[in-house]
Amino acid sequence: MRLYVLLVNVVAVAASVSTAWLVPVDRTDLVRFGVLTVCAAVAIEATRRIERQREYNRAPTVAYVDTKAVWSIAAVIALPPVLATAMVVVTYAVAWWRIWPRERPVLPHRWIFSAATVLCGTQAAVVVLALGMHHYPGIPSAGFLPGLADLVIIVFAAALRWAINTALVMAAIALSGAPRTLSELFSGFGDQLLEAGAIGLGLVTAALLLLANPLVLVGVVLALVALHRGLLLTQFQRDARTDLTTGLATKRWWRTIAEQYLDRARTGGGTVGVLLLDLDHFKAINDTYGHPIGDLVLREIAIAVRGEVREQDVCGRWGGEEFAVVLPNVPTEEHLGQLADRIRSRVPLVSVALPDRDTVISDLTVSIGCALYPAEHLTGIDDVLVASDTALYRAKQAGRNRVELATR
Ligand code: GH3
Ligand code: MG
Ligand code: MG
Repeated sequence: MRLYVLLVNVVAVAASVSTAWLVPVDRTDLVRFGVLTVCAAVAIEATRRIERQREYNRAPTVAYVDTKAVWSIAAVIALPPVLATAMVVVTYAVAWWRIWPRERPVLPHRWIFSAATVLCGTQAAVVVLALGMHHYPGIPSAGFLPGLADLVIIVFAAALRWAINTALVMAAIALSGAPRTLSELFSGFGDQLLEAGAIGLGLVTAALLLLANPLVLVGVVLALVALHRGLLLTQFQRDARTDLTTGLATKRWWRTIAEQYLDRARTGGGTVGVLLLDLDHFKAINDTYGHPIGDLVLREIAIAVRGEVREQDVCGRWGGEEFAVVLPNVPTEEHLGQLADRIRSRVPLVSVALPDRDTVISDLTVSIGCALYPAEHLTGIDDVLVASDTALYRAKQAGRNRVELATR
């Protein structure tokens, strides 16, 4: 891991030095660089609280994405390579200084590595732009076809920069051993859309820098700050909807979805099935292995349950070791019972290997109560829940590891 990080840093420095003499720097370039730097610093300052929260809340397996790319993309298009390199260094340094002032480590290894990955991508973009564009550095040519060709080159260069940067970061995350599966490694991939937005805004910024009065860049800074407010909102939404231990829907979010499904069934004539699951003798797991291991088992069971249902079926954490599943459009209660039975027979196959012992926890069992809407006496989600809870109670009474239907 250390060797890898060192290697990336060395390559970044070597590549940056070798492109530095490609284009000479004149006074106008320096003025433009100064303008961009001021805008970048203002934007980082204005969004630093939000960025700090995003950084704190980030899962260790997810590559951190932000909008600093706006300024370095603009620089790589509009300015000589050495200034594009300087822009990456400056934005990372300012961000580290302003976003991470507390608990600051002696040497910001991770920030240096992040900047190095961006520098590697940036130098690749420099080469593509220098070889492909009609005027490099500069904005797309005025004519339609030459302009289009330049734009394609710019998009390709930006995509290459992004791909190299992302690949290098993902490799580091994979090497650190943090993620267990490929899907976990790509779980924050939705955030990458932000990177695409930053690239687009970077192109606009480059054009404004070269064509317009630099004061109009205030507009870009404003747009960025507004964009960040939206970012935090989606994160809060995601947090409020997902149970941390199991990754399933929270009780509240599950209810919201279940109510929507019920409304749809009421007006459209469909059905909605609800399963309530309660693990059998789960207290024994906690008593034997401790609560944290119990949580680990809950997580694995949650994954298994989700694997047995369809995409539109929503699994939620109903209580401590109780799960709820809402399934739209299940034809009959018998069908629902069969689905539940599939989950019931899947749960014992879940196995959790304990980290430092030779023990494997498996052979857990679950009791499940099922109810299908519409049915007599079921008017809303609360009735359906009471019905499946009653069925669950009967399953427990009848000896556990069973599925019971509400109307039986
Ligand atoms: P049964 O359902 O078969 O009657 O027995 P049980 O032992 O599973 O009893 P119950 O359903 O009442 O489960 C309560 C136990 O679940 C108590 C506690 O040890 C465990 N539990 C509840 N919430 C959590 C949690 O968040 N994490 C862990 N690890 N355990 C929890
Ligand atoms: Mg329980
Ligand atoms: Mg239980």
